[in-house]
Amino acid sequence: MAEALRESTQQLRLELLSIVKSLKSHVMNQDKFAAGLKWKKVGQMENQIKKDASNIEHKLNNICDNMANCQLCPLGKTRHNLVFGDGNPRAQIVFIGEAPGADEDEQGLPFVGRAGQLLTRIIEAMGLNRKDVYICNILKCRPPQNRNPLPEEILACEPFLKQQLKIISPRIICALGTFAAKTLLKTESPITALRGRFHSYNGIPLMPTYHPAYLLRNPSAKKLVWDDVQLIMKELQT
Ligand code: URA
Repeated sequence: MAEALRESTQQLRLELLSIVKSLKSHVMNQDKFAAGLKWKKVGQMENQIKKDASNIEHKLNNICDNMANCQLCPLGKTRHNLVFGDGNPRAQIVFIGEAPGADEDEQGLPFVGRAGQLLTRIIEAMGLNRKDVYICNILKCRPPQNRNPLPEEILACEPFLKQQLKIISPRIICALGTFAAKTLLKTESPITALRGRFHSYNGIPLMPTYHPAYLLRNPSAKKLVWDDVQLIMKELQT
């Protein structure tokens, strides 16, 4: 009787052991399966993001290449370099100025002169870096003696900017100065009346503010630009 009991207890132990072993291997397989799935998904997402990013860059490069020899307006004859734009093609915010000046024309990059240095400081005060944002202009070529852009020059150049913005598709646009604000918003209102609140550019919130070159001549307006910039920062956080 005692022998039979010992045997059945032993049998029960073996069965229990086998159940525990199979449970353990089941759980481990489940784990591996789940982990494999997650990694696969993360990998797929990473690849998709890389593909999208290189696609955006590729599309921007295409427009830049297409307009490299642009002669749609007389500025094509006098420019040294076309200034297409610079920065992160996936930027959440795009700053748009008026037109390249002498430094920009020489280097082929937007906002690299004194006004550009001030813009860089404004961007940094926002807790961002020039590499995080995208910077471009309404006109891609320098008007001689930095004169104001002519309506026919804006008409010829604006389609390129429209394509740029469509590709980048930023969350916010900051229009720097009267020309950028008036051109993008199709209004004759002065910058003093436009700044300080968001407008809409094809559904994208657009904040007009004073041009950094204006701030160099009128430092007291920096406070107003800081107010505008804070509204942008708040909008970026939503
Ligand atoms: N002013 C502009 O509007 N754009 C530049 O790129 C430089 C100065």
